[in-house]
Amino acid sequence: MNIILMGPPGAGKGTQAARLVEKYGLVQISTGDLFRKALREQTPLGVTAQGFMQKGLLVPDEVTIQMVKEYISENTFENGFILDGFPRSIQQADELVNMAEELNFTIDAVINLDIPTDKLIARLSGRRTCKQCGSTFHIVYNPPKTEGICDNCGGELYQREDESEEAVQVRLNTYDEQTKPLIDYYTVKGQLINVDGDQSMDDVFKDIEKCLEEK
Ligand code: ADP
Ligand code: AMP
Repeated sequence: MNIILMGPPGAGKGTQAARLVEKYGLVQISTGDLFRKALREQTPLGVTAQGFMQKGLLVPDEVTIQMVKEYISENTFENGFILDGFPRSIQQADELVNMAEELNFTIDAVINLDIPTDKLIARLSGRRTCKQCGSTFHIVYNPPKTEGICDNCGGELYQREDESEEAVQVRLNTYDEQTKPLIDYYTVKGQLINVDGDQSMDDVFKDIEKCLEEK
């Protein structure tokens, strides 16, 4: 089973993807995580992506599409994968169709986490991410047992650079302009499943499980 998890920044895609990985043995493909890894390692891809990410803009489509294509073709997915943060533009969605044909996979569910914009700022500004394993926490909604320390691996928690108020605003605008049109795109194709993202993490997960089990 291959899934697309959609939603604005801070909707809870990473949080729910981690649960799907655990329950269904899927592999999470987070384009944001792949870019951050490339950036840490200062690979040519990371250097290209850096400026766009810091500003809260999308990395150009052709760079992103190439990265995803390479990742999917170079890895095996016994139980399937979750695309977290991809596609984020119509061109990326169109190219995903070509990629699926070429690499012989299907997209079995497109789940959109629906959440009012005014909730996103609080979620993003309180997010803390583990430097070591990438797990995410929230200082109010999902605090780690020990402040600043990851519950899962003991790594140090940090606040992402693109989580300044200014960058967050650009990211939300970028979402509205370039990514939100994908809701119509997948609705027209009859593939979109809307899930209320404005509930507790457990309730969001229950709704996602229900949708997947009905498929
Ligand atoms: P995304 O991957 O969509 O950008 P995250 O999964 O990283 O979003 O979630 C953003 C922040 O909001 C994190 O700090 C996370 O702990 C918190 N969060 C996620 N889901 C919920 C929820 N249902 N209720 C409250 N906080 C949440
Ligand atoms: P995320 O971790 O999903 O919030 O992504 C962080 C940043 O990585 C975004 O603000 C973009 O700059 C970049 N990025 C992630 N996914 C994509 C994508 N599909 N297309 C273009 N840029 C992306």
